Amino acid sequence: MEFAVESGLKTMESGEGIRRNQALICAPLMADTVDQMVDLMHKAKSKGADIVEIRLDHLKIFNPCSDIEKMIKVCPLPTLFTYRPLWEGGQYAGDEKSRFEALRLAMELGADHIDIELKAAHEFNDFLHGNKPGKCKVIISSHNYDNTPPVKDLGNLITRIQAAGADIIKFATTALDITDVARVFQITVHSQVPIIAMVMGERGLMSRILCPKFGGYLTFGTLEAGQVSAPGQPTIEELVNLYNFRLLEPDTKVFGIIGNPVSHSKSPKLYNEAFKSVGFNGVYLHLLVDDVPKFFRTYSSLDFAGFSVTIPHKEAALACCDEVDPVAKSIGAVNCVVRRPDGKLFGCNTDYVGAISSIEDGLRGSQNGSTGTGSPLAGKLFVVIGAGGAGKALAYGAKEKGARVAIANRTYDRARELADVVGGQALSLAELDNFRPEKGMILANTTSIGMHPKVNDTPVSKEALANYMLVFDAVYTPKITRLLREAAESGAQIVTGVDMFIGQAYEQYERFTGLPAPKVQFKKIMEN
Ligand code: NAP
Repeated sequence: MEFAVESGLKTMESGEGIRRNQALICAPLMADTVDQMVDLMHKAKSKGADIVEIRLDHLKIFNPCSDIEKMIKVCPLPTLFTYRPLWEGGQYAGDEKSRFEALRLAMELGADHIDIELKAAHEFNDFLHGNKPGKCKVIISSHNYDNTPPVKDLGNLITRIQAAGADIIKFATTALDITDVARVFQITVHSQVPIIAMVMGERGLMSRILCPKFGGYLTFGTLEAGQVSAPGQPTIEELVNLYNFRLLEPDTKVFGIIGNPVSHSKSPKLYNEAFKSVGFNGVYLHLLVDDVPKFFRTYSSLDFAGFSVTIPHKEAALACCDEVDPVAKSIGAVNCVVRRPDGKLFGCNTDYVGAISSIEDGLRGSQNGSTGTGSPLAGKLFVVIGAGGAGKALAYGAKEKGARVAIANRTYDRARELADVVGGQALSLAELDNFRPEKGMILANTTSIGMHPKVNDTPVSKEALANYMLVFDAVYTPKITRLLREAAESGAQIVTGVDMFIGQAYEQYERFTGLPAPKVQFKKIMEN
């Protein structure tokens, strides 16, 4: 391992690639037997963990004298021994003396760290008679499974932990809202003592990933998805490969997708791979947000540089922007918010750009497409199914390109409303099957009809597709919906929701980074 100084920070080169921070990834190991625990240690190393937390309280049976020594000897990584009692969320139900004896033994036998709860720390200190055996670092921990207290209370908590003799402070709270994490960052960043600070739950995920940015000592990464020792832990694989944990620095810019639900989003994969490939100092997160104005009020620093916005927050996000692109204003929804250098929020709608440019590309690629310099949509009859956020974006976009627009929607009144605004015709969904005023039309489905798992649903009969030269579907799971399959069988050009997704992401990437989007890479990632 080699150290080189780069931008004032230590950059470590190891066999696993570049590290721009010294934060550790700790794999919590929970096993019934010592042999299984040893297997997990090796697995943790192969997955890329820096340290393992051996949860003694999960072992069904073990002999402290022989088994702790064995585990320390064979462990290929530094160790942290935790023997968590029931009263602090662990599995140990025995007496304190036996628990303390096992922890003291671990210290004497060469454990690198042990964890003792704040509530037991004074008693444990008395038990050790003030003698801390070996080189072991003592982590004093506190867990709050109910909420995240105010900053003042957290400050008092870490003062008490420090006063109890911690070499490393650890506290974990529970996120009721994503903004709870900001209070924990505030504490972490100012701590004079090495600190592990986590906010549990999906709403606290950011606290685990941004640990190196805010000066945390370590974060927990699991061996497998779902095998967590506390709610909300990501896997080691996600930390390292999805969120580029090793590359994060104090000045790394934070981006992310705001939505609810949001964990299914593929956007973090797309952006983080692209950031890594061009060396852009940013990270893109899943942000489970309940209250959009509160989110923007709380994360108002320049560090929080840009956001994609998805269902159900596109309208609420627009209202939080200081300036909104005129097209997004007419659509009434933003899906991209960028923080300008003066801190102001600018909102725009790249759904519209993504979909329309994909359809234009499709038309240009087809034999019937225009080869002129104007939009190939000009003069065409563009039929939009749906009148929600995506429907509005497509209808405005098509109108702006000179198309004549018709809107078909389940709720006719919404179709009428949108059609009135874009100067088009309104239809009910039932009328669509017999709507054949001319040949060479464009059809765009912007409803969720045909989306996984209802993949046999389709918004319009196959017979009605004969008059369309191009059919687009915003649904992207599956990539080829029944509508697109039948359109292709009817001889129409097809454009997929994946094309739209990639198109809107290009535009956002360029707005976020000021760099051209790596288009080939985006396509490859989405194909995989
Ligand atoms: P939205 O604002 O909630 O609008 C949903 C629209 O679909 C409404 O017009 C609604 O009709 C209609 N609808 C919903 N369920 C229906 C059903 N069972 N039968 C008939 N009509 C139905 O949602 P959105 O943001 O526009 O998103 C719509 C779709 O586009 C979603 O599937 C989303 O995943 C997709 N999308 C894709 C991308 C991409 O990059 N590919 C980007 C954005 C959105 P009513 O007015 O009658 O309720």
